[in-house]
Amino acid sequence: MEVSVIGGGPIGMIAARALLDDGHQVRLFDPSINKPTMSLALAESTLLLLERTGVDLEAGEDLTEILVNEKGLPGSILLQAAECGYPRFGRVICSQALESAVARHVSDNVEPTAVETIHARSARANPRVQLATSEEVNPDLVILADGGRSHLTEMLGLTAHYRPFGRSAILGRIRVSAPKKGRAYERFVGTGPLALLPIEPDIYGFVWSLSPTHAEQFQRSSTALIEALRDAMPDELGSIELATDPLVIPLIERWIDQPYRPGIVLIGNGAQTIHPVAGQGLNLALRGVMQITAELKHSDPDTAIRRAFANWKPNRDKTRLASSSLEALFDRDLLPRKILTSLGMAAADQSPWLKTKIAEAGMGIVS
Ligand SMILES: Cc1cc2nc3c(=O)[nH]c(=O)nc-3n(C[C@H](O)[C@H](O)[C@H](O)COP(=O)(O)OP(=O)(O)OC[C@H]3O[C@@H](n4cnc5c(N)ncnc54)[C@H](O)[C@@H]3O)c2cc1C
Repeated sequence: MEVSVIGGGPIGMIAARALLDDGHQVRLFDPSINKPTMSLALAESTLLLLERTGVDLEAGEDLTEILVNEKGLPGSILLQAAECGYPRFGRVICSQALESAVARHVSDNVEPTAVETIHARSARANPRVQLATSEEVNPDLVILADGGRSHLTEMLGLTAHYRPFGRSAILGRIRVSAPKKGRAYERFVGTGPLALLPIEPDIYGFVWSLSPTHAEQFQRSSTALIEALRDAMPDELGSIELATDPLVIPLIERWIDQPYRPGIVLIGNGAQTIHPVAGQGLNLALRGVMQITAELKHSDPDTAIRRAFANWKPNRDKTRLASSSLEALFDRDLLPRKILTSLGMAAADQSPWLKTKIAEAGMGIVS
């Protein structure tokens, strides 16, 4: 089957790789090469997909423990992969290392040009895409993975619903003096959730969801940022210093209820952009890609897309809800709420069954 992939971010690249592996003819269009760098926690299901398509990830660190707690409160949940019966929960990797590992297998199929127009399949003709070079392409299937960064969604008559969270993420890297191998932290601080991901032996990637004013203030003053991080971080990591300049990204949920048209499917951030607090955006999108590639093995494109979406939708809805509720759950700085969440975490920590379920949901092993 001939497939055009629009967009060479991580999702478009990985989808192209998986389709090439299944014997499809793939052309990928993307004019841009400069992407922001971030630390990504890849779930076990994502790693399996990459392994199956021959992509080796040597960079990064395996994730074997996740400590969830709220600053200043006693209750916490410590998820340990070994206790849940797995060697690891996933792996933390730099987005650029991921993209270059995937690009090694796809680069011959990448064309550095933008797509300007797009039309769905009609009764008589395949979907149509028009490139900036004026060439028109009529593949059997178009995969739109533009990150929601172009006008192509609107051109298809699809409506994206936007929900600003009223928060910004500040992200970057820190070097710590007492690293805990393989341990990530999800820490709820009065100002917003802070995720710390081990990416090199003594380096952690951080993503901190804050009010836009706080985030901008910390981006302007590295002294203020490092002081706030010292105050928010768990003591066990020792002293810290900034390892990169921080980046600020406004947090907005972007959601398309039914992200397909005849002959065209939207994947990745272009179909859904969710809150990053649980580190699930890329993992969720790839669970959808896996459904699409599996269905394409025995169905025509439109049937495959419809079936894949129906299979994946419950997981999509749950992941959206879980990601946006986490921040809301810890948002209120009220004592009764704090006592309840602290007791809840202490109780959950005593239940190996519940901890395994939480971990498996994050790993993409159950829906
Ligand atoms: C702070 C933060 C932390 C995150 N952490 C995690 C995590 O730990 N784990 C996780 O799973 N997810 C995480 N995510 C989510 C993850 O980063 C996204 O899901 C992922 O980057 C989306 O990739 P994409 O390929 O869909 O889009 P993008 O990376 O935006 O790529 C879209 C591409 O399309 C191209 N394009 C646009 N228009 C056109 C056009 N007209 N023609 C051709 N090409 C075009 C662009 O040039 C671009 O390269 C995080 C997100 C944020 C913001």
